Amino acid sequence: MRRFSLLTLLKEATNAHQGWGRQWRAPEPKVGYDAVIVGGGGHGLATAYYLAKEHGMRNIAVLEKGWIGGGNTGRNTTIIRSNYLYDESAAIYEHALKLWEGLSQELNYNVMYSARGVMMLAHNVHDVQSFKRHVYANRLNGVDNEWLTPEEAKEFCPPLNISKRLRYPVMGAALQRRGGTARHDAVAWGYARGADAMGVDIIQNCEVTGIRRGLSGAVEGVETTRGFIRTPRIGVVAAGHTSVIMEKAGVRMPLESFPLQALVSEPVKPVFPCVVMSNAVHAYISQSDKGELVIGAGTDQYVSYSQQGGIHIATHTLDAICELFPQFTRMRMLRNWGGIVDVTPDRSPIIGKTPVQGLFVNCGWGTGGFKATPGSGHVFAHTIAKGEPHPIAAPFTMDRFRTGRLIDEAAAAAVAH
Ligand SMILES: Cc1cc2nc3c(=O)[nH]c(=O)nc-3n(C[C@H](O)[C@H](O)[C@H](O)COP(=O)(O)OP(=O)(O)OC[C@H]3O[C@@H](n4cnc5c(N)ncnc54)[C@H](O)[C@@H]3O)c2cc1C
Repeated sequence: MRRFSLLTLLKEATNAHQGWGRQWRAPEPKVGYDAVIVGGGGHGLATAYYLAKEHGMRNIAVLEKGWIGGGNTGRNTTIIRSNYLYDESAAIYEHALKLWEGLSQELNYNVMYSARGVMMLAHNVHDVQSFKRHVYANRLNGVDNEWLTPEEAKEFCPPLNISKRLRYPVMGAALQRRGGTARHDAVAWGYARGADAMGVDIIQNCEVTGIRRGLSGAVEGVETTRGFIRTPRIGVVAAGHTSVIMEKAGVRMPLESFPLQALVSEPVKPVFPCVVMSNAVHAYISQSDKGELVIGAGTDQYVSYSQQGGIHIATHTLDAICELFPQFTRMRMLRNWGGIVDVTPDRSPIIGKTPVQGLFVNCGWGTGGFKATPGSGHVFAHTIAKGEPHPIAAPFTMDRFRTGRLIDEAAAAAVAH
C-alpha cells in the first residue's frame, strides 16, 4: 500500500494522480478463515483492523452484502461527542473520542475529524436540570462539558435565535468543545485500507444468508451468496439488520428497528460554525465542508425496514430548524434519505458474547453509533480475540435485560445522536 505523504502527493501532482492504484483488493472468498465479520460498515471494518493490528489475527474476512460504508455509516449526520450521562457510556464514548483525535495519523488517511464543538440546547426547566446534571457527571469522569447561558450560546453560534418569544425558547446549552464531526465514508475507507494492507479480505457483494452450527451448538461457518465459508468465530456488526442475521443462529435479540432520516440543503458559504442539537424539538444541524447544511431528525414512531422515513418527521424537524435559525427559512433542501437503526430498550449498545459459542455481536447503537466507531471496533476486536469482553465493553452485555443492570441513556438523553 502506498502511504500518503507530502512527497507522494507532490509526485502524483506531476503525474495527473494516475499512480495511486487501488486502495484495497477485491479478493475471492477463501474456504475458511479464523474469524469472519458480518457487515462492512465503520464498526465492522474497525473491528477487522484492530483484530489484525492488535491481536495479530490476519486470516480474517469482512463480508458485506452491498458496498462498504453503504449502510448507516454512509447515511449518518456524523456528530461525534462523548458527553453521555452514565459512567459506562462516558467510558466507551470517551475511549472512541480519544481514538478519533489521532485517527487520521493512525490510518494515514484523512477522516476529516473536526472538533468544532457540539452544543445541546435546553428549552425547558427539565432540559436545564438534566443538562447541568450531565455537565457535573461528565466532569467527574474527566469528560469536557460546560454550561452556557443563552447569550453565551449565541456568541458561540451566531445564527442561533435566542428570542424569548419562541415556542421553545433557548434557556441555555451544554457545550462539548472536543465534540464535532468527521467524514463518514472516509472512516470506512480508512479502516478498509488499513485492514486490507495487513491481509484482511474485504469481500463486497457477499450477503450472509445463514449461520451453520455444529452438533455441539458452536458455530461452524456462514452461508453466503458466494458459498459456504468455514470459521470458528463470527462477529455480527450489521446495525439495522442484526435481528435478521442473529435469528439464523437461533438467537432472538432485544432490538427494534426504526427508520431514521437526514437531509441536506443546497450548499452555501460557511455560515454555521459548530454542531447544534435540540433534543426537545428533535432537530440537529451542522454544515459540511461542501457547504450543505446537514440536518437530522428523530426516528419514525413505528418499526420498519424501509430506508425512507415519514415525510411528517422531516417537516417537523425543518419547522424546528427554521424557528431556531430563521435566516435558513429561504434555503432549499437538496435531498433526504433514511437508514435503519437498531434500538435496545435502554438505548445503549450490546457488545459481546452470545449464548452460541463462537458467535459475537455488536449492535444496538441506534441513532448514535457513528461517534463510537473507533472505540466500538477496538473493544469488539478484543472481545472476539480473547473470547472475553474488553473491560470497557463488559457492562454492555445482552444479559443486562435479564439482570436489570440497564444503562439507561434513553431516559437520560431522550435522543442520542
Ligand atoms: C440518518 C441517520 C443519522 C445518524 N446520525 C448520527 C450521528 O449524527 N452521530 C452518530 O454517532 N450516529 C448517527 N447515526 C447512527 C450511526 O450511523 C450508526 O450507529 C453507525 O453508523 C452504525 O455503524 P455500523 O458499522 O454498525 O452499521 P452500518 O454502517 O449500517 O454497517 C452494517 C453493514 O452490514 C451490512 N449487512 C447487513 N446485513 C448483512 C448481511 N446479511 N450480510 C452481509 N452484510 C450485511 C449492511 O449492508 C451494512 O453495510 C445516524 C444514523 C442514521 C440512519
